[in-house]
Amino acid sequence: MESKKYILSEKDLPKQWYNIAADLPAAGIEMPPVLHPGTGQPIGPDDLAPLFPMALIMQEVSTERYIDIPEPVLDVYRMWRPTPLIRARRWEKALDTPAHIYFKYEGVSPSGSHKPNTAVAQAFYNAQEGVRRLTTETGAGQWGSALAFACSVFGIDLKVYMVKVSYQQKPYRRILMETYGAQVVPSPSPDTEAGRRILAKDPDSPGSLGIAISEAVEDAATHDDTRYSLGSVLNHVLMHQTIIGLEAQKQFELAGEEPDILIGAIGGGSNFAGFTFPFIRDKIREGKQYRIIAVEPTAAPTLTKGLYAYDFGDTAQMTPLIKMYTLGHTFMPPPIHAGGLRYHGMAAQVCALYDKGLIEAQAVHQNAIFEAAVHFARHEGIVPAPESAHAVRVAMEQALIAKERGEKVVIAFNLSGHGHFDLAAYDAYLRGELEDYEYPEEQIKEALRHLPQV
Ligand SMILES: *Cc1c(COP(=O)(O)O)cnc(C)c1O
Repeated sequence: MESKKYILSEKDLPKQWYNIAADLPAAGIEMPPVLHPGTGQPIGPDDLAPLFPMALIMQEVSTERYIDIPEPVLDVYRMWRPTPLIRARRWEKALDTPAHIYFKYEGVSPSGSHKPNTAVAQAFYNAQEGVRRLTTETGAGQWGSALAFACSVFGIDLKVYMVKVSYQQKPYRRILMETYGAQVVPSPSPDTEAGRRILAKDPDSPGSLGIAISEAVEDAATHDDTRYSLGSVLNHVLMHQTIIGLEAQKQFELAGEEPDILIGAIGGGSNFAGFTFPFIRDKIREGKQYRIIAVEPTAAPTLTKGLYAYDFGDTAQMTPLIKMYTLGHTFMPPPIHAGGLRYHGMAAQVCALYDKGLIEAQAVHQNAIFEAAVHFARHEGIVPAPESAHAVRVAMEQALIAKERGEKVVIAFNLSGHGHFDLAAYDAYLRGELEDYEYPEEQIKEALRHLPQV
């Protein structure tokens, strides 16, 4: 009988996260310092204390290779982890490819994506340090619902600034967050200085992740009992997500194969990093030859078209300056349905790896990703989130290249979440009403003119 799923038992759940900071020097990478937005000087742990609990700040700057996962976090992880690694045998047949295609399925979590892997850890450390209230932003609502779930587990209040276009397009995500007990407002909102400033200029602003981050950061910085929580980009977030790749490595052992190509969608870089960093560790330390591909939307092509430069993480210029590939903090991405990929910047560690050539990047159009996702769903049954569909698309393209060449390559991608809350986007695709946004060259050029001078 052919195996379809590779399932680990609870006792095989990894007990430590992997911190790639330990291995970057061996790849010739020295991470550029994070700079204070006011002084332009490197920041230290104390500068971040108004926003984050100390445990997370120490993880952010840690160079320990492995960090223990606290037992209460493991206990919550066990509600849905380990997640399955699935061989897409029916899809392989339909594509008539000699490639073996595997996907790691993160859609089995309570909120339907990989995001609870870090949300649970962040809520735990905040609760442990006595934090009573958290703020955050959310694009498509995946992060907001993950953190709302995690806050409900650890008894913390949560206010979510939700990008307005998603708030309007995706009422079910808002309802899910409210069901978990969070307060949700459309961003830009009148509740913060940053929001009021944008609304004064443009009352119909569709919002962006950059604006919503400004609002959530301001709220946390101006309330003593409140901290801020970010769902991607930061080192500690990427580290929490490595549970995905660490499990996948054990599952490939069960399958008796090794991937040749690893693929993940990138918004801020966290699910891609979580899936691939343990494999990049082996690329750096053991000379493995994995091809690793990050996939982004043509409408927000951070790695493929951005500049590698210092920039703010948010629109209102409140966050520290990070050296990253960026489209400019004033860039407003077109309203594509993959809301989680509408971000101007990218995780610094992912950018450094791209800059050094350890990973590749590709940009794909919206209709192409839905075409692949629908084909996948009709053979594997799972309807991918539009974000995850970026990885599905490139996995399909690689499988077809393998077919042309008659090569048995092993392709693995991270299916970061299900698309059950994104059916309006599928509806638009199926009716032929989905717009492909061209690469917004002029707007990006304009936004890049506003990069901070450091
Ligand atoms: C948020 C999200 C993404 C993009 O965020 P990353 O930090 O790049 O992973 C991708 N897929 C899903 C399902 C998401 O919810």
